[in-house]
Amino acid sequence: MCGITGYIGHREAYPIIIQGLQRLEYRGYDSAGVVLFDGQEINLSKTKGKVSDLQAKVKHDISTKGTIGFGHTRWATHGVPNHVNSHPHLSQSGNLVIVHNGIIENYDTLKKELISRGYTFHSDTDTEVLINLIEEIKIQEKCKLGKAVQLALQQVIGAYAILVFDKEKPNELVIARLGSPIAIGVGKDNKEFFIASDATPFIEYTKDAIYLEDGELAIIKLDRDIRIRKINDDTLVEDVKTQELQLSLEQIEKGNYEHFMLKEIHEQPSAIIDTYRGRLLANKGIIRMSGLDDNMERFLNANRIIIVACGTSWHAGLVAEYLFEDIARIPVEVEYGSEFRYRNPIITEKDVVIAISQSGETADTLAAVKLAKSKGAFVFGICNVVGSSIAREVHAGAYTHAGPEIGVASTKAFTTQITLLSLLALKLGKAKGNLSVPNYQTYLQELVQIPNKVEQLLKEDEHIKTIAAIYKSVPNFLYLGRGYNFPVALEGALKLKEISYIHAEGYPAAEMKHGPIALIDENMPVVVIATNKGYYEKVVSNIQEIKSRQGQLIAIVTKGDTTVKKIANHTIEVPETLEAFTPLLTTIPLQLLSYHIAVMRGCNVDQPRNLAKAVTVE
Ligand code: GLU
Repeated sequence: MCGITGYIGHREAYPIIIQGLQRLEYRGYDSAGVVLFDGQEINLSKTKGKVSDLQAKVKHDISTKGTIGFGHTRWATHGVPNHVNSHPHLSQSGNLVIVHNGIIENYDTLKKELISRGYTFHSDTDTEVLINLIEEIKIQEKCKLGKAVQLALQQVIGAYAILVFDKEKPNELVIARLGSPIAIGVGKDNKEFFIASDATPFIEYTKDAIYLEDGELAIIKLDRDIRIRKINDDTLVEDVKTQELQLSLEQIEKGNYEHFMLKEIHEQPSAIIDTYRGRLLANKGIIRMSGLDDNMERFLNANRIIIVACGTSWHAGLVAEYLFEDIARIPVEVEYGSEFRYRNPIITEKDVVIAISQSGETADTLAAVKLAKSKGAFVFGICNVVGSSIAREVHAGAYTHAGPEIGVASTKAFTTQITLLSLLALKLGKAKGNLSVPNYQTYLQELVQIPNKVEQLLKEDEHIKTIAAIYKSVPNFLYLGRGYNFPVALEGALKLKEISYIHAEGYPAAEMKHGPIALIDENMPVVVIATNKGYYEKVVSNIQEIKSRQGQLIAIVTKGDTTVKKIANHTIEVPETLEAFTPLLTTIPLQLLSYHIAVMRGCNVDQPRNLAKAVTVE
């Protein structure tokens, strides 16, 4: 993954690039670098660490003059995160410079060949191999930069979004993509161009964006135009589509919140509304969603639904398994993208595959989508980022419209995915005749109440903070839930692990007896989701078993509960709702609990170590 941002125009490039890198830092943050061309020289500065470290270093390193330049914030794949491995990378002559997002899989073979031709390498990266390959081709073929990049990429196996500059062609930038996103912001009259991994770095400058497609290369010429070609067969792309950006600056800034994660947790009531807005007409008893409506037959005739996803989206997929089987009576399998793609799965034309990914760039999910398509399945995407790779690859789909999620730990992406999946399950359940009209109406009426109920729950923040303070120093946590709330237990454990670095595990509550119960003693906090629908009595028995072994119980209960309250050390109340919608509520206190614990432990909540927002490598 990583973030790339660049500028070519008539303004000073440095402030635009630095601000862009800050907005892209969610994509990777183990090192950062910037390059500027002042009309004479290439000035380059890079460092291990964050964009703020880069800013401090640039002050001593280089002049920040120049109206052309670009930057990179890295998530290392080849070579440790240190100064030399940071991007940008120069070619051997020092004339060419590159930033790269992705992996060159055959870099080793290419590197050996280049070494035999006299090239020396300073870094361990695959990226340095690519820039030298471009240079070698440019010399051998006596061609221009664009052609050299194209010929080099024809030799490359892997995934990339690259941005390349040649000192000999200072009014030009070359970009290309295969598997990693890159967008061009087009300024007025082609007087300036912005390049970035997503549109956030340039939204205040232009609303016109071109998203490069896989296998395309663009030559951007200042004051002139953009030429886009297919890397493989050199055809010129005639109908280049400019999209109008819907993003606003306000949406990507933190507002009054200390962290993006907290802001995004609090945005959930409005994000859920944005997901069902225009789709759920509760009073009329209508759900409409063109991606589903246009393909209803495929869904209704499906043998089964296979859900592919990774991480938090996989947990949303597990909730959907309960929703689809319970409400629509369609068999469901939920798969990790990474396992599915390599397992030679049995997929037929009668299968419907649903791919879930917040970023729409998750490499394993994208590969699973391509595999399912090649086997003839109908593929439906659920993504948040508009125009993302998965959104473009699928046959049909629906966006969650949750707004940009910047915090690395997913929060509103999860609840909005579940909202969207609920709409699908309800529409299919009705169409299949499994839901009576009153029953269907009850679901719809209740779904529109959810944002209010989430709002009420967010008021529990102070109470949850006091619980967090008690357990902030423990080394382990257990999360238990049953039925619809089993995936919520998994998600609660994942949230805690990723931002507080406390080891946590989620289990179906009844499975506890088959192993994890051995871990329980007076030092083990156990979060149990024990809402009043579903298997309440069974969960109460599990709670008793934990209590008898002195476990510290934090129970998520329905408002007004008295039974569990008497047993648990702490309870957090959630408003009453239908069983199918409980995950939309029970998730919220678990997000807040992990958030507060992580903050109290001094962890970097928005940028946890070793993680990145969009996992665009497999
Ligand atoms: N493979 C390149 C590296 O390790 C780029 C990684 C990235 O996308 O940040 O430097």
